[in-house]
Amino acid sequence: MSKPDVLAVAKLHPFYQQALESVYTVHDRTHITDPTAFAALAPRIVGVAGTGEASVPRSLLAQVTNAKVVSVFGVGYDGVDVAAAIEHGIPVTHTPDVLTDDVADLAMGLVLSVGRTIPQADQFVRAGQWPSGPMALGRKVSGARLGIVGLGRIGKAIAQRAKGFGMSIAYTARTEKADSGFKFFPSAAELAANVDFLVVITPGGAGTKHLINAEVLKALGPRGFLINVARGSVVDEEALIAALQNGTIAGAGLDVFANEPHVPEVLWTMNKVVITPHMASATTETRQAMADLAFANMQAGISGQPLRTPVPECMSMVK
Ligand code: NDP
Repeated sequence: MSKPDVLAVAKLHPFYQQALESVYTVHDRTHITDPTAFAALAPRIVGVAGTGEASVPRSLLAQVTNAKVVSVFGVGYDGVDVAAAIEHGIPVTHTPDVLTDDVADLAMGLVLSVGRTIPQADQFVRAGQWPSGPMALGRKVSGARLGIVGLGRIGKAIAQRAKGFGMSIAYTARTEKADSGFKFFPSAAELAANVDFLVVITPGGAGTKHLINAEVLKALGPRGFLINVARGSVVDEEALIAALQNGTIAGAGLDVFANEPHVPEVLWTMNKVVITPHMASATTETRQAMADLAFANMQAGISGQPLRTPVPECMSMVK
């Protein structure tokens, strides 16, 4: 008996790909590589597998008339047209919680990296510069003021870690969280004006596009550092580059970029910037947990069982 057909809209992590292939025939981006063949295949597709930012547009959702679920490998799902999915009766799932620790760990890693210039120090030694040193001094992290843009699952986990460093913690979000015990600022600019390190950890998409703009960077100031582990779209990258070039801010730690995997070359050579390749959840343990959850959601959706982790907008579809 042939296996049911699912569509992968992007290159999937091997853990997720292999799990899917054990049960389904996985069509790898056929909608892009061979649209004519896909037109014939589309009615047979029972599930759509995606990644955090991979595009699942309205036009595709209209074609997969028998799809039962869109299962995203990642907590963010800004590439999925969720409104269209709901209209077509296709619930969307994601992988919250299982990656929270890793993303919070990397956020703190970037705070320490930019503040204490750890990657630069490594380069300094490797380049044989130590004998003619010393290096420029870093910025103390313990006891500094941390601002978190987006106090959700990951934002709270970052706050927990920052407490261990004796940092004073403030945040902004759409709504105040009075029970958090942290100081709330109603805008990113007001928060930025009152912190040393500004960590961005909101979803991407239209609602947060360029939330961190020239005004926010100016408020952060020449001794302030920006850390972005959210989505490249949340930061106005041109404004950020200008702010770094002009000394408007002290430096940045960046895991995400506007046009991944392409990072503006001007950033490569800036000593005050630490760059990672969108790898905040990239540990073996977490990628396995994400694959297990994404696969479980795919199987549940296709077999009509309760979904493990539908996105908030789709909760009412599955009750
Ligand atoms: P949550 O939904 O738990 O938290 C999101 C937070 O962002 C909430 O506090 C929310 O506010 C806030 N927020 C949303 N819109 C705005 C806005 N316009 N202005 C200010 N705050 C806003 O999500 P998670 O913490 O689980 O994940 C957050 C994001 O992290 C993901 O969506 C993804 O984009 C990113 N991420 C990046 C990874 C990487 O590899 N770099 C890995 C994993 C996630 P409120 O509480 O008021 O609704």
